[in-house]
Formats: sequence, C-alpha cells, structure tokens
Amino acid sequence: MKKLGLYLHIPFCKSKCLYCDFYSFPLPTEEIMRRYTDALCRDLAAWANRCRDYTVDTVYFGGGTPTILPPAYLEQLLSAIFRLYHVDTSAEITAECNPATGGRDAFLRMRRAGFNRISIGLQSIHPHELKSLGRLHTFADFCRTWEDACTAGFDNLNVDVMSGIPHQTPESWLETLKLVCSLSPAHVSAYGLIVEDGTPFANREATLPLPDEDATERMYFDGIRYLKEQGLQQYEISNFAKSGYESRHNLKYWNCDEYIGFGPAAYSDFSGMRFGNSCDLGAYIEGSDICKEREKPSERERENEYVMLRMRLFDGVNAADFEMRFGHSFADSFGGALARYIAGGFVQKTPNGYAFTPRGMYVSNAILSDILDFSAKSEKNY
Ligand code: SF4
Repeated sequence: MKKLGLYLHIPFCKSKCLYCDFYSFPLPTEEIMRRYTDALCRDLAAWANRCRDYTVDTVYFGGGTPTILPPAYLEQLLSAIFRLYHVDTSAEITAECNPATGGRDAFLRMRRAGFNRISIGLQSIHPHELKSLGRLHTFADFCRTWEDACTAGFDNLNVDVMSGIPHQTPESWLETLKLVCSLSPAHVSAYGLIVEDGTPFANREATLPLPDEDATERMYFDGIRYLKEQGLQQYEISNFAKSGYESRHNLKYWNCDEYIGFGPAAYSDFSGMRFGNSCDLGAYIEGSDICKEREKPSERERENEYVMLRMRLFDGVNAADFEMRFGHSFADSFGGALARYIAGGFVQKTPNGYAFTPRGMYVSNAILSDILDFSAKSEKNY
C-alpha cells in the first residue's frame, strides 16, 4: 500500500508571539475547541474513503499549540484516525507543544492514546530573549514540560530553538544549545528568525535590536558544529537528529511524498493534486468547503519543487531518483546552472547526486532562486 502522512492543524495558542505568522488564535474558549475537534473528526471521516489504498505512517498535530486542547479532544482525534484509516503499527505520531501546556496527566493520556513523539517550542533559555519574542514561558516551564513528557514515557522528543532573536549574541545562542543538549534530545530544530509581513515584528523591524549579519552567520555555523559534536547530525538546513530520529513526517514534505492537511490554513499533496485551505476557522467549524486552491502541478513545477525541497536535505538530490520520477537526467537539466556553484564551493557532487556544502546551505535560497524556474504554472482547478 502507498504511504500517507496526516497533518492536523490546531489553530489555538495561549497568546500570540510577536514574530508569528502561523494561523492561530489566542485563548480559545472550551466551546470553540470542542466544536473544532468535532469539525476535524467530520473532515477526517470525509477523506477516509479516498485513502483506502494508503497506509498512514505519520500523523502530525501542529499549530498553533495542539497541547492547548484538553487531552480528551486529542484522544478523540487520534482514535478517529485509528478508526477511519489504516495506520501503520509503527507510525510516527507527533504533537507540537509549548512549555506550560500539556502537563504530566495530559502527556500520560496522550502516550496511552498512541502519540509517540513530542516537539517542544523552547526557542531560548534566556528570559530577556523569550520576552523579546513575546513568549510567555520560562526555561523552568520548559524543564517541567520536558520532565513530564519523559515521565509519561516519551523518548522521542524534539526541541525548537531559534537564532537571530533580538538581543541574542553568539555566546547566548551557544548557552541555549548547551543547556538543551545537556538533556540529550533525540532531535533539535534550529530555525533562524524571519521577520514576516503582517506580524508585530514587521511593524517595528527598523528598531528591533536584531543580531547583525556577522553574528547571525556565526550562530548558524557555531550551531551546526556544536550540535554535531553532541551527536545530532544535520539532515536538513534547520534540523538535527540522532541517527534514526529524523522527523519522518517532515521528511515527507522534503521528499515530495503524499500528505493530507486538515483544518484551516492546511495544505495537502495527494494523488497528484495540491489542495490549500483558506484561513477561515468559523467556516470550517460550520462545515463549509474552505478549500481555496485545487491544482494539478505541471511536470516542470513538480521538478522545480522536488529540487527545491530535496536540496534542503543534507543528502541533496539523488540523481537516480530524479531520473526515475521525471524521465530525464538531473545533470542535463541542472548541471550547467550548478557548475559555477560547484566551482565556488557552494554545491558538491555526492556519490548519488548533488548537495549543498555547509556554505551553500547558508545561502541556499539565493542559489535556488537562481537555478530554478518559478514561472512554471499549475493547472488551476477552482
Ligand atoms: S506558540 Fe507558536 S504558533 Fe503560537 S503564537 Fe507562538 S509561534 Fe505562533
């Protein structure tokens, strides 16, 4: 059977962080959370028939903050998935969590329900950096959450940390990584702050005390080096794992595998089509069709997307896999465009294809926009 990932978007948080452009609302009422859970169950049921030929091997509750939902609702959602879909017995089942949500009893119930991976958003250990991001929790909250998750039996834990935070220095960044690594996490996601349009940060970007370019670059390379020393191998631009603990769900996105996203703002890539839901919580709860995009990407678009996503991975593009998917050689299509980046030390030939060097990964966006043709169009089908 074909493999499938399921993503459930939980668009609720305790408060809204100042840099966040994810679709999420602060402080939902119990009634809204209950109705939203029912809406997700309805949607899961509506898609189930189309997934008869698939085995679900990853489930990911993201957000937002999924652990803001009462455990009974998380149990309800996961049991609906087990009832409606063929779920692999070794499926990776993740919930994102923020410190000061969840708690020991909730984690115990989640573990019993079938969750086996928790991703905790820490970002920084330093109170002034957390405050500058508008995050409510402290490092002590994170430690309690970590402890509760471990006690409940979770051994596959990710910690999200962030570089490029206002007031951050290369030294304070390393202090964050050191304390995180002292807990021996299986996985660390280390993202650089991006000031996104429409966020409170964007409105005052000019006055934000962000680290300068040199400091940001140092943090990136120091971070990779330090995490590697701690046994956390970089397998994607921003993701590091002990061997065997790479996020199988996120690898689906980077490998262009199939997944279905449930809830407002969620995207799907399923059966050759892409779907995108609008950001309309109310309409979703009411049961309206909120799919705003249905498109069949052209071959050229698929090819660009594949290269863009696969090059994010440490292993890069596998030339044989590329040829099998698209029927022509990767070197013929992209070898010429990549030649000067190979000469410049940004891209390297690997035994199986092509990959960024560490220097190339740092400027990957610029290289990819140079070599890829983003004018390729999908067939729209609204
Ligand atoms: S907790 Fe995460 S999803 Fe919620 S507002 Fe903060 S960054 Fe956004």
